[in-house]
Amino acid sequence: MKCKLLLGALLSITVICCSKNDAGPEPIDIPIPGQQLVQLPVVVHMIHNGEDIGQGPNLSKERILRQIEILNEDFRKKKGTKGHNEHPDGADTQIEFVLAKSNPESEPFDGINRIDVSKKQVDDLGHNQNHFAQYAYWDPEHYINIWVAPLPLETTCMVLGSSTGPKTELPGSDLLLLPQPGDAEGILVNWIHFGESDIDCHARFGRTLTHEMGHYLGLLHTWGGKDCVHNDYCNDTPAVDRPVFGPTAFKGCSGETIMIGNYMNYSDDAVMNIFTNDQAERMHYVLKNHSGRKSLLTSPAL
Ligand SMILES: [Zn+2]
Repeated sequence: MKCKLLLGALLSITVICCSKNDAGPEPIDIPIPGQQLVQLPVVVHMIHNGEDIGQGPNLSKERILRQIEILNEDFRKKKGTKGHNEHPDGADTQIEFVLAKSNPESEPFDGINRIDVSKKQVDDLGHNQNHFAQYAYWDPEHYINIWVAPLPLETTCMVLGSSTGPKTELPGSDLLLLPQPGDAEGILVNWIHFGESDIDCHARFGRTLTHEMGHYLGLLHTWGGKDCVHNDYCNDTPAVDRPVFGPTAFKGCSGETIMIGNYMNYSDDAVMNIFTNDQAERMHYVLKNHSGRKSLLTSPAL
């Protein structure tokens, strides 16, 4: 016992010596996903057509802040919010999101990057990440890029959002929208579905971002590749082999009632309230093993 203690003492002395002699930056404590609460920085690229703030797609600061709050209520299963549940498999993922506190030039920043597209010509690449990245794209190793896109009102309730996924060893990763070399990584949300509103649509409580963030951290839809054996590779989400819409649960592959409230369905925002423990574990794996996601944990923007 004594030897061990002595060795331990010597080791810690060695570590202290090394860090003192090392001319490099001070060592940073990297929080361990799955064991500690982790925070991830997001930048909201608020893309608009020259409207005043609070008009049309140029959403108010309040609405943006509320959206980030909803995202955290959902990921943290916060009591007293729509994101709370009492399900035995329901997870507080211990993942939180903060608006970036500095921009790429290391200047203080509030996390909201407003861009007037009427003043900036870009190529038409369609409704996708690469198109909107032409307006702004910050280092994805330090920021989760969220583009709030000024899509036309005709797209309401049809185009909600999309997200690129992380390429990892996890089964089913190939079902995600994996960026090819040169592609932009990030989350796209149709402005009308960003934050809360009273639009006549099932997606009006800000859960589009929760769903897309799930993809960004490696989650599949609960039906995965639409078969009963290989669906989302999470044992605590009842297997289902087809897309799940609406407010009402039905019987899945094994005759068990499906989990209508799972954020990784296309269910109504009003009934969504759960990430499971296996889903949380999958996201923690990504944060530990995907270099571009892991680096978010020590972003200077936090
Ligand atoms: Zn999806």
